[in-house]
Amino acid sequence: MYSKITTGALIGIHAIPVTVEADIAAGLPAFSMVGSPGSEVRESRDRVWAALKNVGLPMPASHITINLSPADVRKEGTSYDLPIAISILQAMELLTPEETKDKLFVGELGLSGEIKPVRGVLPIVQSAREYGIKECVVPLENAPEGSVVPDVVTRGASDIMSLYNYLKGEHGVSLPVFHTDTDKLLSESKDRVTFDFSEVSGQEDAKRAALISAAGFHSLLLTGPPGAGKTMISKRIPGIMPGMSIDECLEVTAVHSVAGMLPPGKALITSRTFQNPHHTLSKAAMMGGGSKPHPGAVSLAHRSVLFLDELPEFQRDIIDSLRQPLEEHRINIQRAAYSAEYPADFLLVCAMNPCPCGYYPDRNKCTCTEPMIRKYRGKVSGPILDRIDLCVQLNAVKISDIKQSRTGSGIGSLELRKKVERARKMQEERYKGTGIRFNSDLNSSETEKYCRLGEPESEFMSDIYEKLSLSARAYHRIIRVSRTIADLDGCAEISIPHLAEAASYRPSDDYWRR
Ligand SMILES: [Zn+2]
Repeated sequence: MYSKITTGALIGIHAIPVTVEADIAAGLPAFSMVGSPGSEVRESRDRVWAALKNVGLPMPASHITINLSPADVRKEGTSYDLPIAISILQAMELLTPEETKDKLFVGELGLSGEIKPVRGVLPIVQSAREYGIKECVVPLENAPEGSVVPDVVTRGASDIMSLYNYLKGEHGVSLPVFHTDTDKLLSESKDRVTFDFSEVSGQEDAKRAALISAAGFHSLLLTGPPGAGKTMISKRIPGIMPGMSIDECLEVTAVHSVAGMLPPGKALITSRTFQNPHHTLSKAAMMGGGSKPHPGAVSLAHRSVLFLDELPEFQRDIIDSLRQPLEEHRINIQRAAYSAEYPADFLLVCAMNPCPCGYYPDRNKCTCTEPMIRKYRGKVSGPILDRIDLCVQLNAVKISDIKQSRTGSGIGSLELRKKVERARKMQEERYKGTGIRFNSDLNSSETEKYCRLGEPESEFMSDIYEKLSLSARAYHRIIRVSRTIADLDGCAEISIPHLAEAASYRPSDDYWRR
């Protein structure tokens, strides 16, 4: 008595089909599992045994062997419970091969036989489609995410008994089929903005920097006293980034699905997210990994904004390890038990107070000593500052700014997004076929190639290079940012006002003196 059932194994944010084979043989009662099962998969024996017993389909007191293949892929998580249970029922000849043919099963079992949600259903259904599987039976709560994949029937099951009756073709028993019209979802969310820039009082410099940041994918640091609006502005940046394509939506949803962070009933993430991890989070929570493969905050912020508030409070090695995803747009996790790769292409936005109390240079409020201020700022390491293209100091909000915003004169997010989209279009055309996506991607030789300066502009740059004793890195950074400012203006050539504005967003040595 032998059976074969299909399920899926996660590899990063993708999946491959896995065959679950069950064999029931005479002999002393035993249950063995082979094919690289992780600890949670090994525990499924007890859950499957109890679930089948409690719905009145008890496992025989025989020698049961489960094989998960391919064996060279490590199997993690609880999603193998359901396919193991189904393969045992088939090996018991309670189900025929015909009744489970062309179907994929995934889900965790509770002891009473209920089917519980699992991580990674979207990529598993996507892999089913690639391999020509016609129908996926998934936990009811996960069915919406599976339903965004075309050409595959996604059914939601809430307990193993109703699934069994459905497979047996019991009269009147069906499992709900889910379908999501992704085009409709995308068009409905197109002009929706959760937080609007029109609500931000004053702080024109910071808003302008946020616009440049979104337009050229330049990392941004906002410094200023508490209440100046650093978080308020940062939260509004995802809303002015260009709308997401369907491929981006699927990719971002897959990351959230694999992380188990997709809200219940959510089919597809259609707008850019704002990841705001607390400074006390662990390195595994930030970068991904841990005892099991798991995407971290850098991957949840994929195609969106990673916001680090109170930057000096973050552990230094966490900040330093952001270098890999910032350069490679993905993160590679190597552990003894597994290795995993997740996408991590995020826009880095940071915020910090100017001193430990937050009110420097307002000496009426700030009592911090110079060494305290130096030490506090010194916690932000050079390598991360090197990766920040735009730096803006915010002042406390003035009463006149609040009054002005009441009149509704602030420019709205949708209008800003149009400007960003135009600037992105110019970058797309300029870098067609080069693999470069944004101005912020340019290295120094590419900056020389794509951001050629006229004679007066070159002279202007030589001048400030001398005056501000810039490093070569800082010099190229100003030119890259000026390219984005020119793109926002719709200008093919970079002019002196573009360079002058870009230079004003330079993190000043005076501020960071150690
Ligand atoms: Zn202070």
